[in-house]
Amino acid sequence: METVQQHVCCGMRPELCHSINAEMRLMILDAGVLRTQMLYRNDVFARHAASEKDVNKSYQHAGYRQYTLIHHGRLGLGVRRPVPSCCTWDIRDTFPDPDEFYVPYEPSW
Ligand SMILES: [Zn+2]
Repeated sequence: METVQQHVCCGMRPELCHSINAEMRLMILDAGVLRTQMLYRNDVFARHAASEKDVNKSYQHAGYRQYTLIHHGRLGLGVRRPVPSCCTWDIRDTFPDPDEFYVPYEPSW
């Protein structure tokens, strides 16, 4: 991982790791769920959909947002929480960047 904050795992015992629970597969790694979230978000914020070239990057960011919403709730403008490394790698492996370029986590302070 690129930053110290990203080295943090979910802290659960291996059998309870967030990356292997059903919630991760059904709500964070499912392209249909993430596509619906992106359509809603684009509609609310009057944004354009990502180009085909950037589709996996959009899925990655939607997965990070989905993880944060599920585990921390709504954080508010400018407030961030790192996604644990175990889940970040699942999201990146599911929606890989063709150029293997990943934006590092930036804390909100
Ligand atoms: Zn974990």
